[in-house]
Amino acid sequence: MRFSQLYVPTLKETPAEAEVVSHKLLLRAGMIRKLTAGLYTYLPCALRVLKKIEAIVRSEMDRAGFQEVLLPVVQPGDLWKETGRWEHYGKELLRFKDRNDRDYCLGPTHEEVMTDLVRGEVRSYRQLPLRLYQLHTKFRDEIRPRFGLMRGREFIMKDGYSYDASVADAEKSYQLMHDAYHRIFMRLGLRFRAVEADTGSIGGNFSHEFMVLADAGEDTIAFCHNCQFAANVERAEVVEQEVLEGVVCPAAQAVPTPNAHTVEEIANLLQVPTTKVVKTMILTADGKNVAVLVRGDHEVNLIKVQRLLGAESVDLASPDVVEAATKAPVGFAGPCGLDLPIYADFALKGQNDYVTGGNAKDTHLMHVDLNRDAKITAYGDLRNITTQDPCPRCGGQISLAKGIEVGHIFMLGQKYSTAMHATFLNEEGVEKDMIMGCYGIGISRILAAAIEQNHDEHGIVFPPQIAPFNCILLNLDVVNPEVTAKVEEIYKLLCDMGVEVLLDDRDERAGVKFKDADLLGIPIQLVLGKKSLAKGIIEASDRQSKVKVELPIADFVKSYTDYQSQIWVNWSTQSSSL
Ligand code: ATP
Ligand code: MG
Repeated sequence: MRFSQLYVPTLKETPAEAEVVSHKLLLRAGMIRKLTAGLYTYLPCALRVLKKIEAIVRSEMDRAGFQEVLLPVVQPGDLWKETGRWEHYGKELLRFKDRNDRDYCLGPTHEEVMTDLVRGEVRSYRQLPLRLYQLHTKFRDEIRPRFGLMRGREFIMKDGYSYDASVADAEKSYQLMHDAYHRIFMRLGLRFRAVEADTGSIGGNFSHEFMVLADAGEDTIAFCHNCQFAANVERAEVVEQEVLEGVVCPAAQAVPTPNAHTVEEIANLLQVPTTKVVKTMILTADGKNVAVLVRGDHEVNLIKVQRLLGAESVDLASPDVVEAATKAPVGFAGPCGLDLPIYADFALKGQNDYVTGGNAKDTHLMHVDLNRDAKITAYGDLRNITTQDPCPRCGGQISLAKGIEVGHIFMLGQKYSTAMHATFLNEEGVEKDMIMGCYGIGISRILAAAIEQNHDEHGIVFPPQIAPFNCILLNLDVVNPEVTAKVEEIYKLLCDMGVEVLLDDRDERAGVKFKDADLLGIPIQLVLGKKSLAKGIIEASDRQSKVKVELPIADFVKSYTDYQSQIWVNWSTQSSSL
């Protein structure tokens, strides 16, 4: 491919709308353009990367014994009504009607459609296991599409589904995917970690997420220094600590706290540590209001609240609800005298003498004993794990890191097969529901995640395994016929060798060419100009280390082949499952 003919509209300025590095660089490198919120067009360089990611995913899915199919993006609402998700999936499901007034949606995931396919064909245990997947477009009407490809509304996903006759077999399917995902992310050249995860709206028994470690990650993962424990903080259980103070708490007392809004401000004003301040949140769970208490230095975990309440959805209550419940403006909620079910994190148990909101404007209460002064409905694990908590498995030291979720595997059990009557006859001729698993990989999100993990001040540093081109050949003297003839010769040689080479044949200054080559993140730069031609060499450097080497023109095929394989090997040794 010649740069002069490549549609790669690079930008000099950093686009203002982009918040994260991958979004900025994808726009600047002319790889994507926004159509409207959460909808992006992939330009040639981006599509080349996506195809490479897909090829790696496809080869490992095939290797694991999964077969590729292609299901429609448009799905009938009736199937979603069978599983109850038509009501429960929420607004991310984009629904519409056809000309006959029938309900349809754009597929955000394909459990229903795949299970419909399977239930129509599978009759006997002999036809199981059945393991299928597709690489396709998904649509989710995300509430906050952002960060470019990281959280789009339309995106590319690999979704796989397994149907088994027994739990033991289903666990084998799950393990096949767990192992395949490890191979996939290693081959993609990424640093990643598999973590225990919540099952969310997909549901099911247990699941793992695969996280690319990067500061821009929207997820936080907790992992132990001593054992293999690693989990999304959404999921990581906190071990209850026995703390009994035995302090006699003076009578509760209202104190004025004007201009103190945050936990820190209140703690400062009242001269208490933040651990002695109680945060009270009014939440709406399936339409009912509840209060949740956590310690001032802790963060409430809505997924844990949801699980404790057995609710379909939990959200922060609207300001109207908070004002009606507390009879005060937002910001002064407290548990004393509150006429709502109150759930408290168990870190608050067994201690007393807290500061809480006073359910009145500019007022807090000091010396609150929760058991004496409030009516706690139940204590439970309702907060995020911290680095002060012990590992829930071994008691070891916990660390936290940011991650981007690029894959998610679920053991679904019989949730969908029971609802949709996906049954088979077992060896005894008894009708049973199939056991199901589902397995997603965010193909387009991987493109963004790879950039988040691999970039520098000059631009993208693509892992060679997924880079849009293997190398870029820069002609530094396009007006010089001798140089140009040699460059053309080398270009032809590289093409004949099967190397994906981008020839920068533009009549531009060297500086512009180097800048663009860096921005695009192509792993190898080859440079030929008057001086190097006179020396009989091509200057090569790799995008990551920038170390320069000289490849003799006379022995170019061998020296280039060795050089490229060295770059690949170097990168492979960096990709790891931490
Ligand atoms: P998230 O928690 O990030 O919203 P999810 O848990 O809803 O994702 P899954 O249903 O597990 O996502 O989907 C499988 C994979 O699809 C995810 O691991 C992720 O890589 C990708 N994915 C999900 N939502 C998006 C999105 N809005 N844009 C791009 N990729 C996405
Ligand atoms: Mg997920």
